[in-house]
Amino acid sequence: MRLKKLLKTAISATLYHSGLHRALRSRNALTILTYHRVLPCDDSRYLNEQPGMVVQPDTLAMHLRVVSKYYTLIHLDEWVSRYQNGAPLPSPACAITFDDGWADNFEYAYPILKAAQVPASIFIVTDMVGKEYQFWPGRLAAIIRHHRLPQQLFEQDAHPGIHWLLQLLPAPIAQFQPSTAAIDAIIEHAKMFSDHEVTQHVSHIETLLGFSGNSSSHTPEMLSWEQINTMTEDGLIKIGSHTRSHARLNQLLPEQDMRSEIEQSSIAIKHRTGISPSLFCYPNGDHTPLAIELVSNQYHAACSTIPGVNAPGQLELHLLKRFTMHEDISDNESLFICRILGLF
Ligand SMILES: [Zn+2]
Repeated sequence: MRLKKLLKTAISATLYHSGLHRALRSRNALTILTYHRVLPCDDSRYLNEQPGMVVQPDTLAMHLRVVSKYYTLIHLDEWVSRYQNGAPLPSPACAITFDDGWADNFEYAYPILKAAQVPASIFIVTDMVGKEYQFWPGRLAAIIRHHRLPQQLFEQDAHPGIHWLLQLLPAPIAQFQPSTAAIDAIIEHAKMFSDHEVTQHVSHIETLLGFSGNSSSHTPEMLSWEQINTMTEDGLIKIGSHTRSHARLNQLLPEQDMRSEIEQSSIAIKHRTGISPSLFCYPNGDHTPLAIELVSNQYHAACSTIPGVNAPGQLELHLLKRFTMHEDISDNESLFICRILGLF
């Protein structure tokens, strides 16, 4: 892994010195960047988070400096509205988005965005606002890292949660090591189950291991409505929907639940902020034709996790492409530029 990073760093530096960054200016398209959490590396929340979910504040500030040099930064909903109305579009353009609605977006990202006057959209999960950590991938990762788990795996294989977890292990129990790669593999494997099933199993194992509640943290991990309203006051930050509960909009989700996730989250945002959200974002990028249809009925545009740029005339407004950013693949300027050019 380390070697891969060194190699990418060396290649990106060489490309940068040969003038790669000029390619950014020539793009007649909208580039959308995706962030999740913004935390300094000495914060306990950083240490407990999966690497693919976080950038450090200095890295975010560097990204904004770079994109400001090459792109016109614009609110995603403004770009969409201009596109729909046939108004002139800035080119090349870039929009910044944050998924999930983490409290650290207020603590660390908002001051940086405000200082640089960079507009951004935050996609919130309305039932989780002001709550502790509830996303099952992170809870499952915490279970796998728990020091008592190996013993429970050996002793309690009849426990429904442990029995379920045993099926997901990438190696026999005796050889199992809770590495980042193993944790990622287990999370991916667990996605074959519905969110409801996974959450139930995760809750049972947490009880068995003696976890108190869903979070090991002392403070709510998600934004509060107060923080949301502070950030949106002057219009620099806008709020979109990322469903009610972060349910994946796939074939495993009943239609009634899918409707509720898409429609009720919009109602909650309108009720708590006074503004109807015009943008949506699919949790985990999952979408079915029905999900796209329901989202299209409710929102002007929606973000996917498909990597790429959005060229006018060749884009799907309810499946906008984005580039996901995290610390490992974007912590210096040349790596970041390669990432937004879709090279890594
Ligand atoms: Zn999400």
